[in-house]
This record gives sequence, structure tokens and C-alpha cells, in this order.
Amino acid sequence: MTEVIFLCFHYLKRSDEYHRIYGYDFEDFKKYIEYLQNNFPIIDFEDFKLFLQGKKSLPPKCSVISFDDGLAEHAQIIAPYLQEKNISALFCLPTCILRGEMASVQTIHFMTARYGVRKFFKILKKYFSISDLLWSDYFDGTEDNLKILPLYSKIKEVLMKKIPGDKSRLILNTMYREVLLKDDPKVFDKIYFNSEDVNKILKMGHRIACHTDSHPFFMGLDIDDDKAWQKEVLEPKNILSKYVKQPIDIFAYPFGGDAKDFDFQKWTAQLKKSGFKYALNAYRNSKKQEKFDPFWIQRYSVQSKEKAEDLKNNSCHYFI
Ligand SMILES: [Zn+2]
Repeated sequence: MTEVIFLCFHYLKRSDEYHRIYGYDFEDFKKYIEYLQNNFPIIDFEDFKLFLQGKKSLPPKCSVISFDDGLAEHAQIIAPYLQEKNISALFCLPTCILRGEMASVQTIHFMTARYGVRKFFKILKKYFSISDLLWSDYFDGTEDNLKILPLYSKIKEVLMKKIPGDKSRLILNTMYREVLLKDDPKVFDKIYFNSEDVNKILKMGHRIACHTDSHPFFMGLDIDDDKAWQKEVLEPKNILSKYVKQPIDIFAYPFGGDAKDFDFQKWTAQLKKSGFKYALNAYRNSKKQEKFDPFWIQRYSVQSKEKAEDLKNNSCHYFI
């Protein structure tokens, strides 16, 4: 029997004009890796697959690490650092970034980091009308009295969950092009991977997984809408499969969630039908133990400033 934990990482701490983004200090990140190597040696996801097929044995305790959203620091700093240590990690990529389009979640993070939440809210108000939606249906005028964090939560709730995904994307993409990109023409490369980076990390021995096209709030995605499934699941799978010259079989749910809150069985059936063999979730609150399901692999999303031991304490431990 093997004890396996799965971890998911996002931003590294930055020192540029986007320094307000919450991220791990690189020195802390190195400590996480050292801790894992000493306590839960990091294994390649491909070896984990072989283990599940009974073709390979694993250490008694081990971990799989993954990096979501195709962030520039993953390709430029983390992937080479892990390669030096002979570690293979999984990178979950939304394919819109490979054609130069932002995922909405990073537009929100980087614009609020640069301009502050209140100014972001003002910019949002200015651009909201291009969506044909009525501002007053979502914001009641009490927002000016809110403190920063509740205001930020409300903005995210409206943009990611309340208004239709295509409208939210239209508003945020326009704000990105007309405001952020004008102020910082080089911003996209500061945020994301490019195609060359995908080839580079694969050469380093890392793996890639499908993380949809535009990183929508997946619980709001209509699974019976063939066009949406094509765009957010099948096309990204095909695009990424070309890089590895074999079918991509790992899907990572954007944002993560609770299996109770969506039609989990239906999603699993659709993913299987589309050729996936594994699906990864991400969560923030600690989970101790769960029965292993290859279509609902729980990854602990590591928060900045955590102690290395917290990785063990907060992870879902699978005994397989
Ligand atoms: Zn993501």
C-alpha cells in the first residue's frame, strides 16, 4: 500500500508592479520541495498511472505536485528548478493563453493588484454596459461602504458566478485590452506561458494536463451544450495533445469545487467519453482522507506563508 498526497501551486511572490498578488516566496517554495522530498518524495504522474495499472511500485509515502494556469514563473523559475532536482511535475494549462488571451481569473488578479480593488471596481462599472447586462441587477450601490475584502469577494462572485461566462469574459477582456494592456504593453508575457515554454517544460521531463480553454467557473458550464464542451474540453485536449504527440488524459477542473454542488456523475461520464482517464480537483480547506477516485483526485491548493508541515496536515491522504 502507498500513501499519496496531491498538491497544487499557483503564484510565486513578485517584486514588480503586481507585487500585491498573493504568492509563495521562492525561498519558502524551496522549503516545501525539500520537505516533500524528505517526507513524501515527489513522483512523476506517469509513474502514478503505471502504479494504478499494477506496472510499477511506488515508495510507501509519496506526492504528486502540480502547477495551475500556465503562469510565466512556472515555466521560467519553477520548471528549471525542479528539473535540476530531477523532479517531474504536472502543469495544468488553459489553452486560451497560447493564443494570447487572458483567462478571466488572471485579469481580475492582475488588474486589482495593479490598480487596487476600488479603482478596479470603478473601471468595471465603466465597462459593464458593453455586456447588455444591467449594473443595478448585480450591484446595489452599497458597495462603496464595503471594506476592501468584502468588496473584492463581491466583485469575484458577480464576475465568476452570477453573470453568464461569455458576458464576464467580454467585459474582462475589454478591460484588459483597453486599460491594462495600454498601461503595460508587456504584461501578457509577465503573466503567462507561451507555446515555446510548453515545449521547453516537456523537454525538461514535466507533464501537461488540460485545464479547459478559458478557465470558466466549471459548475456554471452547461454540460449538455455541445458547443461549450467542444470549446472548453475537446479543443483544448486536442491542442495540448499535439505538444506531447499522444492523447492528453488528465483534466484539471478550473477553480475546483465540491462534488456535492454539481452533477459529478454526469461530468465524469462526459470526461470518460472524451478520452480522459483522470480528473483533478483543487481545494483549500484541509481534508484528511478520502477513497481514491481517478476522476476526483483531491489536490490541496497550497496557500502562501504556510509552513512546510502544513502541506502534510492539510492534504487529503490516499492509501492505495
Ligand atoms: Zn486554474
